[in-house]
Amino acid sequence: MDYESDVRYYKPRTEFSLDINDIQNFVYDMSRYIKCKGCNWVDHTYMPGAKFMTRCPSAEKYQFDSYGAYGKMRIGHAFAEGRLEWNEKAVEIIYACTLCGACDVGCKRNLDLEIGLSLESLRVKAVKDGVGPMPAHKKIAENIAKHHNMYAAPHDKRKDWITADIKPAQKADVLYFVGCAASYTNKEIAQSVAKILKAAKVDFMLMPDEHCCGNTLFSVGMLDEARALAQRNIDKVRKTGAKTLLTACAEGYRMWKVDYPKLLNISTDALGFKVVHLTECVDELIKDGALKMSKAFATRMTYHDACSLSRMSEPWTPYEGKRGWMGCVEPRLERRRGSNGIYAQPRDILKAIPGVNLVEMPRKQENAFCCGAGRGTKEAFPDLANFSARHRLEEVKDIGAETLVTACPHCKNNFAQAVRADSEQIQVMDIAEVICASIES
Ligand code: SF4
Repeated sequence: MDYESDVRYYKPRTEFSLDINDIQNFVYDMSRYIKCKGCNWVDHTYMPGAKFMTRCPSAEKYQFDSYGAYGKMRIGHAFAEGRLEWNEKAVEIIYACTLCGACDVGCKRNLDLEIGLSLESLRVKAVKDGVGPMPAHKKIAENIAKHHNMYAAPHDKRKDWITADIKPAQKADVLYFVGCAASYTNKEIAQSVAKILKAAKVDFMLMPDEHCCGNTLFSVGMLDEARALAQRNIDKVRKTGAKTLLTACAEGYRMWKVDYPKLLNISTDALGFKVVHLTECVDELIKDGALKMSKAFATRMTYHDACSLSRMSEPWTPYEGKRGWMGCVEPRLERRRGSNGIYAQPRDILKAIPGVNLVEMPRKQENAFCCGAGRGTKEAFPDLANFSARHRLEEVKDIGAETLVTACPHCKNNFAQAVRADSEQIQVMDIAEVICASIES
């Protein structure tokens, strides 16, 4: 049957793309949201019980439909169609969200709707309309513009993490992008990365005049500023001739691998270098026999999947197509469902350490519950960030883990702060530190 010409089936096709610059691209997604709450509940088939079944930190904390993706889609749809004017509460609702992607992958178990991109696009609209971002985000943007880091720390101190025994090469295939957190607040992570690479005899260089990756700028909808930084940083790396950009920060990893290409409308492959997280690199080194985890670490350990290293980390491919009958799109759109994140590598590394008893939390991999720190949340909504960390720590305690390991400085800091505030007996470590403690020096 010729569906195109048969009047019973023919519907005009509308052009659309995945460009978050234009909220109209996501009107279909926001308007077809059926409120089944797949965005809020982790499928019962994956869960041993009802205790840890929710996936959205915002809905969990505020306990009101507007804060969940189901409410945000309704609000966003009304904004996109001009049926709602911005007000203070609406701005707060749009930003009181960790953009963790849990709703997106939950929704995509049933429907092919782009919830995560709709949420990003809403923030872009908020900035364009002059109501966003939140004051704390504006301060970070100022810090980045003035000091090239999110903390307003002196730029000339960026390399202060380098101790006498760490000697980056002038030129190497691997470029270690340290990031703001490991440069200033989590030097232990940068130092561990350097020691691991030294132990595996992997030469690395640093980015000449490293600046912030711009994660917060992008996440809060300041696309022009984020794009300028993306172009600047990519050009710098290309000029070095590095084949691999290595990072130990999950947020930075997502920026380089997914959101820089998204901002520049190119695919991840077109960057000209490979973006690799420390866990991918170390997993390969162990399997190739270049790194041996020999020192025992006797602990009951659990691993927290940082959102940006897991469900949010699938490569980006720009898309332009047409939507027609029953919402079907042409050409075929390969949806990013979060199942191809970096899941096996960190677990294989931890299992290779003698003495480690690795236990899983009920919510893991693409169903993991966000720590609450990322994408501008901790700075603008510290209560939400703290709530999310404490909620996740309940899960850690429930499985009796003594050590909580993550692969992102932002997760580590948020968890560690919540552990200290509640005087919990949980050791919080970054995976770089754990690896470093176990390798022969
Ligand atoms: S991105 Fe995360 S916090 Fe935001 S609505 Fe979705 S699940 Fe909730």
